[in-house]
Amino acid sequence: MNQFYRYLPIPLQNLACSWAGYRRSVSRFTPYFHETLARWEKSVGEPLDALRAIQWRLLDRQVRRAREHVPYYQSLPLPSSATEPAEAIGETLAAIAPLEKSTYRDRWREFLARDLSPRNLLRVATSGTTGTPLPVWHTPERVAEGYAAVWRQRRACGVSIDDPHMTFAGQMIVPLHQRRPPFWRYNSYGRQTLFSVYHMSQQNMPAYVDAIHTTPARYVQGYPSALHLAARALLDVGRPLPSGRLAAVFPSSESLLGFQRDAIEKAFGAPVFDHYAATELAVSMTACAQRRLHVDMEFCIVEIEPVEETDEYVRGPLLVTGLGTDASPFLRYRIGDVGTRAKRPCPCGRAGDAFLDIDGRVEDYVMTPDGRLIGRMDHVFKGQFDVAEAQILQDLKTAITVLVVPRPSYSQRSQKQLVSELRSRLGAEIEIHVRLVDGIPREPNGKLRAVKSSVGRIGP
Ligand SMILES: [Zn+2]
Repeated sequence: MNQFYRYLPIPLQNLACSWAGYRRSVSRFTPYFHETLARWEKSVGEPLDALRAIQWRLLDRQVRRAREHVPYYQSLPLPSSATEPAEAIGETLAAIAPLEKSTYRDRWREFLARDLSPRNLLRVATSGTTGTPLPVWHTPERVAEGYAAVWRQRRACGVSIDDPHMTFAGQMIVPLHQRRPPFWRYNSYGRQTLFSVYHMSQQNMPAYVDAIHTTPARYVQGYPSALHLAARALLDVGRPLPSGRLAAVFPSSESLLGFQRDAIEKAFGAPVFDHYAATELAVSMTACAQRRLHVDMEFCIVEIEPVEETDEYVRGPLLVTGLGTDASPFLRYRIGDVGTRAKRPCPCGRAGDAFLDIDGRVEDYVMTPDGRLIGRMDHVFKGQFDVAEAQILQDLKTAITVLVVPRPSYSQRSQKQLVSELRSRLGAEIEIHVRLVDGIPREPNGKLRAVKSSVGRIGP
């Protein structure tokens, strides 16, 4: 949070949120976005053959571009010359070795397309599932395609871009030192009420419950961890929202667990529509009313390395290929998640590949000394390029230990920056111990958990 913003009176903070909302909206809802959304709203109803033909055209282009402009891929084989799209896709992909996260970690510079100037690209950090944040570049068009997939899903749920809504996400819009409501700010341009996810203590939750009831909204979006805290607060006092007032709940940024979904649907009186994506923009899946995650076929190709197979489904680690990731291509990227793909078509009628579930990560919250539960702490590590891997451990409300695997560039300054990022979310009271280590042990499923807290664990 900007130092200046903290000291503004609340009406001016609302104005600042509206200004930020205006700028976000201008950069997000571009002519290319609207054009793509319109095109994809048509193609979503196409039969499988037509979708495979779209994928093939995009894959062929992606492979040729990568060969020509991306150093890492310069010796990639030429795309297949088969004429049948499904066969051509299969042949082309089979000739490409899967890309490991560790390869990207060691050679990420070679993935940036040489015909594009980084100045015109958006630089983000890779998803933190391995705890190793790395830069990735996107063209503005690719970013717009990501939003087109999101808005295609939302519009199918009866929600439109200018509908009023509530957000429970990571923006730090309420100063941590604020002790009394309102723990939310209003972006009048986007008709969005932004709830702080950093003030959700037992003591403050009654104010959230009242505000959720009185805020005009057509839908809710946000981190499942925060939506679940709000849902529990609504249910604990016996005040769920009347069923049907909201059209839908859209979780984002982290995997939605079954017990979270149940509580959220009950408390907000609306169905949850999940979305699976990653900051590499090499995969996007959007859920339908049948709770299946449909691969956004115009956006990516998702393969499975089968570990288990029945007549109904096939299950295994995912290999994702972005179609249109012009700046940093990811071909057959082993993203680290495991998925279960249905073999039969989805009863909703949408053609293409559809998943019954994706096993994402399970994270704990950090609990602060004043009782706030803070989720999605792995975001803290995303911008820390001097940190190779990190994990937060917590056994007491009063302290956390941060395990850090440093990169060679790690310095006193990196450490100060890391601690200040943590403090901006957790406050001044908690003790923060940083311990430099050589490696961080993985969970039995092979994943690294960003947070392991015995005091901030919330189960079903
Ligand atoms: Zn479906």
